[in-house]
Amino acid sequence: MELPKTAAEVIYTLNDEFAYIKENYLRIRENIERAGGARFMAVTKTVPPEKVNYSLSLGIDLIGENRVQEYLSKEKDYSPVKMHFIGHLQTNKVKYIIGRAEMIQSVDSIPLAREIARLSGKAGIVTDILLEVNIGAEESKSGFSPEETDSAAAEISEMSGLKVRGLMTIPPPERPSYYFGQMKKLFDDLSPKPYFDADILSMGMSADYETAIKCGSNLVRIGSALYGARPKK
Ligand SMILES: *Cc1c(COP(=O)(O)O)cnc(C)c1O
Repeated sequence: MELPKTAAEVIYTLNDEFAYIKENYLRIRENIERAGGARFMAVTKTVPPEKVNYSLSLGIDLIGENRVQEYLSKEKDYSPVKMHFIGHLQTNKVKYIIGRAEMIQSVDSIPLAREIARLSGKAGIVTDILLEVNIGAEESKSGFSPEETDSAAAEISEMSGLKVRGLMTIPPPERPSYYFGQMKKLFDDLSPKPYFDADILSMGMSADYETAIKCGSNLVRIGSALYGARPKK
């Protein structure tokens, strides 16, 4: 007969099964510090809640989700934690995210910003956002082109209900350090402008976070290096 497990046994089993997450986390934190330091985000797309909750018990205080439906289905099972939305967001899905995300990092168009501003105003809150920049001008990626980011920042900063906190990017994989450098330059060029009162440069993922930090990132978004490879779509 199978005996029911005591709580201590359950926790022990979980710890054992997820021990690799702890090892990964400690190693990544060390690498981050060695590269110069940055805020750590755990990217939890496709990761089941029990794994996410285990990682939160290690001291992680920020997660990133990039699909609305998936997040809504998992949210109730998560331990309390701050969430940033980091995926492409359709205008008609903004209503599900307002008030739930501490920040929307993936604002890639003026109409999206306008909708975030409108619904935040209706809810009586101010939503922090980042402007996503398509720094490599890739057709497959969304985001403002580097050339239009300045005018987009000026226009969006006029909207009430949101606050532009900085820039975010996913660079082309070939020459990440070149593109990270371009992002840093864009950020520094914008910083003196009165409409760009920003403090966050979000760049760097599992494969390139150390490079990103050395180029000026202060927020890294890490999924597979923490939780293991995601299932193929
Ligand atoms: C998936 C994702 C990440 C994390 O990717 P990894 O390579 O697994 O670290 C970071 N940022 C965004 C926007 C993502 O969609």
